[in-house]
Amino acid sequence: MTSQKLQHFLNKNLRDLKTKGLYNEIDTVEGANGPVITINGKELINLSSNNYLGLATDERLKEEAIQAVKSHGVGAGAVRTINGTLDLHNELERKLAEFKGTEAAISYQSGFNCNMAAISAVMDKNDAILSDELNHASIIDGCRLSRAKIIRFNHSDMDDLRAKAKEAVESGQYNKIMVITDGVFSMDGDVAKLPEIVEIAEEFDLMTYVDDAHGSGVLGKGAGTVKHFGLQDKVDFQMGTLSKAIGVIGGYVAGKQNLIDWLKVRSRPFLFSTAVTPADAKATIKAIDLIMESEELQQNMWENSEYLKNGLKKLGYDIGNSETPITPVIIGDENTTQQFSKRLIEEGVYAKSIVFPTVPRGTGRVRNMPTAAHTKEMLDQAIAVYEKIGKELNIL
Ligand SMILES: *Cc1c(COP(=O)(O)O)cnc(C)c1O
Repeated sequence: MTSQKLQHFLNKNLRDLKTKGLYNEIDTVEGANGPVITINGKELINLSSNNYLGLATDERLKEEAIQAVKSHGVGAGAVRTINGTLDLHNELERKLAEFKGTEAAISYQSGFNCNMAAISAVMDKNDAILSDELNHASIIDGCRLSRAKIIRFNHSDMDDLRAKAKEAVESGQYNKIMVITDGVFSMDGDVAKLPEIVEIAEEFDLMTYVDDAHGSGVLGKGAGTVKHFGLQDKVDFQMGTLSKAIGVIGGYVAGKQNLIDWLKVRSRPFLFSTAVTPADAKATIKAIDLIMESEELQQNMWENSEYLKNGLKKLGYDIGNSETPITPVIIGDENTTQQFSKRLIEEGVYAKSIVFPTVPRGTGRVRNMPTAAHTKEMLDQAIAVYEKIGKELNIL
């Protein structure tokens, strides 16, 4: 017999979400997540992936993955601390440290998992964490799990951060204090003010933790936001994901050897959950090699982003102040935004709406993620659809 309480809970809450229009129907991509995708049998120009460099479908990565399956099998066989640390995992971690310019690195199964792991391995209930109000959900959950006091500061507001850091230090209540931020904020594409954050951290002896999920492979010749500002020696935790520009799956922290040693004995998802597969590890190593060897993919990505941004701006759209390929088209009203995205998809452009509560009320937008893999023809086609729908809905 199934639980009546559970049935009641599920039926009531699902019905509520559906009547409020908040129930998210998930689309299925039939085949690979490339620059053009197929959904419900229809081909669409894909402006919604995080596959910045097109590596998710790169032939060279696929070949590495296939070879890794042949040499190492499809699974690691055990958690890292029993005997699931394969030579490939160590090679991956050495590669990540080289990529990030740090002494060492630790790999996790995902970026989300990494934030759950690393923050709580270092912070506890006697500590405080200064967290940008727009930080990613995985940072928020990682902070909560640590049971440290979470002190939110206004988005990229350095006066607010300084004031709150000062107050936290002077209160004498906390053992350790950390400041944590996204490197690139995913909704607007703005970059964290890391030089100021590091300066404030030095002034108040704060630990620094940068989640560079959207910055790695994109900024700093691919090495990320920290490298972009030349701060590799000043940021304690360089965290990132391997699922966005890197194109595969996994997360990591790069930092000093003793930090990584500690995370390897104290972070629970590392200790109690099996690591990425051999194919993941090998494909990731290849991706990082490609990024370090040549800037070709990044150049394509930046060129395509500029091209799309200029096209949309010329039409008269408000595309915000993004400093990265992330290109919001800010519509404003929630209903219009949703209608707009629906029409784009019907006309062959897959770009999703993002509305309150993910972004502030009245700033509903359609977010575009141009990648290195798009062609000019695809972008021209997308811009033409943007023009048509903008006029149709009286936005232009
Ligand atoms: C996407 C993202 C993550 C999660 O990464 P996954 O590898 O997909 O789990 C974490 N932090 C930020 C800022 C992200 O954008």
